Amino acid sequence: MARNITPREKDYSQWYLDVIKAAEMADYAPVRGCMVIRPTGYAIWESIQSQLDERFKETGHVNAYFPLLIPSSFLEKEAKHVEGFSPECAVVTYAGGEELEEPLVIRPTSETVIGHMYSKWIQSWRDLPILINQWCNVLRWEKRPRLFLRTSEFLWQEGHTAHATREEALEETLRMLEVYRSFMEEVLALPVLTGEKSEGERFPGAENTYTCEAMMTDKRALQAGTSHFLGQNFAKAFDIRFQNKDGELEYAWTTSWGVSTRLIGAIIMTHADNDGLVLPPNVAPVKTVILPITPDQNLLQEKILPEAEKILERLKKILGANRVVLDTQFHMRPGDRFFYHLQKGVPLRLELGEAEMKSSHLRAVRRDTGEVVNISFDAVEREVPRLLENIQNTLYRRARSFREENTYHVTSFEEFNEVLNKKGGFIKAYFAGSPEDEKAIKEATTATIRCFLLNEPTEGTCFYTKKKGGKLAVFAKAY
Ligand code: AMP
Repeated sequence: MARNITPREKDYSQWYLDVIKAAEMADYAPVRGCMVIRPTGYAIWESIQSQLDERFKETGHVNAYFPLLIPSSFLEKEAKHVEGFSPECAVVTYAGGEELEEPLVIRPTSETVIGHMYSKWIQSWRDLPILINQWCNVLRWEKRPRLFLRTSEFLWQEGHTAHATREEALEETLRMLEVYRSFMEEVLALPVLTGEKSEGERFPGAENTYTCEAMMTDKRALQAGTSHFLGQNFAKAFDIRFQNKDGELEYAWTTSWGVSTRLIGAIIMTHADNDGLVLPPNVAPVKTVILPITPDQNLLQEKILPEAEKILERLKKILGANRVVLDTQFHMRPGDRFFYHLQKGVPLRLELGEAEMKSSHLRAVRRDTGEVVNISFDAVEREVPRLLENIQNTLYRRARSFREENTYHVTSFEEFNEVLNKKGGFIKAYFAGSPEDEKAIKEATTATIRCFLLNEPTEGTCFYTKKKGGKLAVFAKAY
């Protein structure tokens, strides 16, 4: 069993890769930039997928599927979109033994093909709104790939909606940002700041991009999800028009929003430690594992295993059939069996040996703190969910305190540089500069504007240009 995870303090990137390897979450594919998501990693994606899907449906969305291949002429219809995406596109030019008349782009995102379909489906105000989501893979030729965080092919969901008014579309954009924020905080225990992207960081073709930004344990920022207000840009490019109630033709207003397998990277870089993965119970495919341990075969077969099986059945009723497992890897040494579940991030381990049988208690070990709690056999239904909830809250609070401890407010560029060089983390500052100023800051420091914070009505003097009327921005070095 591989226990040799490079300590996080020594080499953060290597630690990240070691955690993935030890938990058997993913592996490199033969094509650079692509990855194989192994069962442990995929189960986390399924958990993310099913819980997000429920939240999308609760907010009125339905799922559909659009094709992988998009005629290259579609991408060219929206000027900024093609400019932004063409360097990352992979294009099929040859198929069925011959050169294709029109090259086909492997979707980097689906606004264009969905816009094309919406123009057929939308005629009247009665056809609106359309609230569709799709779960699929996309391809963006990434130059600096990193498992989960940035891969060329990745799994995601993309929501695409069309509305009769600007207000409705804006409301939808912000609603989905809030769905993401609450999901990330409540399920992934991932504290995020929500805000608006600067012009330079906007989605190509969007009028406005909103984002959820999280701080990783190396104090760098990660864009965890985005929601775009597309205005009428794609409606104009794809002729999505409808007859309003007065019988006049109007362009529709559209939105799109997405999160990807990057969220698994966010979980690792927020909660994992030097022993491996740590999963918040609400996203963990396996929330707790029962480990019968004893060298005494008779005791094991006659007493311990039957008791463990009873507890397993009782816990299945409370946590769900697949959410609790009984470890029967008796061919392994006890230490290796502990480590197996530790590295995979299982939130709670319930040990059952000779001493526990005698006292009718389980020895519960928390993955987040290593703390040991004894749970009486009678109290399993009450105590296990209570402990899991406590682990969930502890992980969230720990991550939030870390972000707060590493967030600084600055009022000058000197201060900005000092904080960035000496401390790192998030820097809050009022900013009223131009896109060129933003670029100059990035070139000088490699830090970027992660977002202008939502719900921050105050204005202040720009730390960089000293102009009045700056909006409160968060800067950081980012993934
Ligand atoms: P976008 O449509 O470009 O706003 O992307 C939606 C979300 O997908 C982003 O907010 C990222 O969290 C994620 N994402 C973008 N590119 C990648 C990538 N190469 N690998 C994994 N996730 C990505």
